[in-house]
Amino acid sequence: MNHTYSITQNYIGGQLVNGQSNKLDVISPVDGQLISKVVLSDKQDLDQAVIKAKKAFPIWSQKTIKERVQVFYKFRQLLIDNLEELGRLVHLENGKTVGEAKAEVMKGIELTEFACSLPQFINDEIQIVSQGIECRTTHVPVGVVASITPFNFPAMVPLWTIPNALALGNCMILKPSEKTPMAAIKIAELLTKAGLPDGVFNVVNGDKEIVEAICDHPDIEALSFVGSTTVAKIVYKRATSNLKRCMAMGGAKNHLIVLPDAHLDMAENIVASMAGCAGQRCMAASAMVAVGNIDKMIAKICQAAKNWEAGNNLGAVISQEAKERIESYITEAAALGAKILVDGRNTHPKGKENGSYVGVTILDNVTPDMKIATAEVFGPVLVILRTDDIDEAIRIENASNYGNAASVFTQNGSLANYIMDRVSAGMVGVNVGVPVPREPFSFGGWNESRFGVNDITGKSSISFWTKIKKRTTKWNAEDWKDWMS
Ligand code: NAD
Repeated sequence: MNHTYSITQNYIGGQLVNGQSNKLDVISPVDGQLISKVVLSDKQDLDQAVIKAKKAFPIWSQKTIKERVQVFYKFRQLLIDNLEELGRLVHLENGKTVGEAKAEVMKGIELTEFACSLPQFINDEIQIVSQGIECRTTHVPVGVVASITPFNFPAMVPLWTIPNALALGNCMILKPSEKTPMAAIKIAELLTKAGLPDGVFNVVNGDKEIVEAICDHPDIEALSFVGSTTVAKIVYKRATSNLKRCMAMGGAKNHLIVLPDAHLDMAENIVASMAGCAGQRCMAASAMVAVGNIDKMIAKICQAAKNWEAGNNLGAVISQEAKERIESYITEAAALGAKILVDGRNTHPKGKENGSYVGVTILDNVTPDMKIATAEVFGPVLVILRTDDIDEAIRIENASNYGNAASVFTQNGSLANYIMDRVSAGMVGVNVGVPVPREPFSFGGWNESRFGVNDITGKSSISFWTKIKKRTTKWNAEDWKDWMS
């Protein structure tokens, strides 16, 4: 199939605008074709967006939250109406299957529904604290904020932040991944169509340079970042050293601890966790700790792996560079003694030979000292580490620098609780391969998977996107019986 390519511009003040002349090719991992050239903005482009956002802020922030969420009721319907179009864009720019791409938009719809319910979650408090003296709180928007997002969920991760931050009264600059900038522009257009006032939401495309400019911009009060741990650390340090509020989500290495009594039908779930979205999920299963003899389960997992066909129900990885990186992890582990049970290297689906595909790969006898056991591989690769001891399995999980997800597979409730109590991850599951909490629960890992205090979605995000004002009132002097100040 031949694609015609377009220019992915910025979206500032409710309009598509050209940024500076530098542009970067956007290559579809599906088949290696050029699908767009994205503007690489500079500081002046960011300034334009911040000026528009600052101008929009007083009017937008002073609306009631009930008024603001009306936009998101309409936006939700527009996401439904544009599911096919958004799904197609995400598929082309990211490489995941059309079904996976539509599923991430569906998740975006759920996130938008949560934002529509924010008026019910903002529980401001009022109390008579002394005779005649009243204290009350109000949640106040932070101001102009930024959201910096990765390539792996071009629609869903922006929608982790946009509906909540905006419904809570902020104005936003989104900086999508330069590898997958197209869905974000479509989202911006739909927000305008839903009635969002110009300037409340802006997209500034670009790379490292624009992220640094966001961290340094004096008029951006808060920023959320989602991406690799290496960059999360840079962004968190730079933004907070400029005295900004920041939460930065990083990478992951998620462990599955599988006990001998695990139900064998869970094999498909385990493979779906590691192979879904070609393993490019920060919640993907990556290391399986096999406790005792679970050879039957491993055989079933290898069998289930055969149901995943690259270029069909197994999508592409983001680039040729990513494919080479993933394959080199596999080759290096094999050279060090890991046993390849299923080998996904050298996968070139017919008709998509220029795409970037890695087949499902399963490696046994991996040891904790191998790079593949600890690094975030970010591909459809599952490594198996073996032990006979549950506490040793927990130690292996605890040794990871990351801490997004961990799951246990067993039918024994008390062992499941024992393990869940001891793993060092923010999102844990029992017989669940991808333990993503659903709204109103919040999404966020521990350790080097998240810097800052808040989670990025759900109820926890409310305190990130707002400031609390505490108002104390006294009127009638005769009532001040036990006032302390
Ligand atoms: P990335 O860190 O390379 O890029 C993320 C963003 O940072 C992009 O917008 C990019 O333009 C920008 N960026 C890249 N290098 C930069 C630099 N040196 N300085 C400043 N900005 C820079 O991440 P990615 O490859 O796009 O995404 C995959 C990563 O994201 C994985 O590590 C994955 O685990 C992680 N992720 C984490 C979560 C989570 O919630 N913890 C969710 C999704 C993805």
